[in-house]
Amino acid sequence: MSNAIEDVQLGDGGSAVPCFTQLKPARDGGSIVLSLIGKVKGSPYHWMHKKAKGYRCNGEGCPACKAGVTQSWTAVALAAAYLRGGGIEIGYVPMSRPAFREVRALNGGKPRECNVKLTSVGGGYAFESDSGPARWTGDEAMRREVEAARNDARIDALIESKLYDQLTDAEWERVLAGKSAKETEPEGWE
Ligand SMILES: [Zn+2]
Repeated sequence: MSNAIEDVQLGDGGSAVPCFTQLKPARDGGSIVLSLIGKVKGSPYHWMHKKAKGYRCNGEGCPACKAGVTQSWTAVALAAAYLRGGGIEIGYVPMSRPAFREVRALNGGKPRECNVKLTSVGGGYAFESDSGPARWTGDEAMRREVEAARNDARIDALIESKLYDQLTDAEWERVLAGKSAKETEPEGWE
C-alpha cells in the first residue's frame, strides 16, 4: 500500500527530534506559544463511536465510506514550542479542520512567520496569532534546531505516525462488523 506507515529508527544520536511529542499546555485552559516550522500532513478519517477510536479513510472503495460512517479530517503540523526558561521543544500539533482553517488565516495567511498562542479549551485547542516574526528566526541556537528538525529525513514518517491508524479494507470490514481490526486467533475452524 502506497501510504502505509513505515518503521522509523530513533535514537541514533544527534537528532533534533529524539522523541516526537505533542506540544500542548500542561492543563486545560493553559496556553503555550509556538511557531509552525514546516511540514503539515492531513488525512480524512472515520470515527467509530463504539470503539471510541478513529481510523484513516481508505479513499476510493473505502468500506467505511460505503457503510456511511461519518468522515472527518485531521492535520498534524511540525512545530517548535518556546520554553519558559528559553530554548525550544520540537514536536507536533494536531488540528481539526476548523482549527486548520483558523491557523491558515493567522498573520494575514502567513502562519509560519508568526508566534502562535495555543490554548487548551475543553478537549480542543484554540489558536491565536501572537506577534511576528517567529521568535526562532532571531536566535541562532533555535534556528539551528529548527533547521535540523526540518531537514531530518524521518520527519515525514514521524508526522504521519501521528495521524489515525490505517487499516486494510479487510480490517475495516472487521471493525465495521464490531470485531477488532486485527485477527486475534486463526479463522477457518468451523
Ligand atoms: Zn472512507
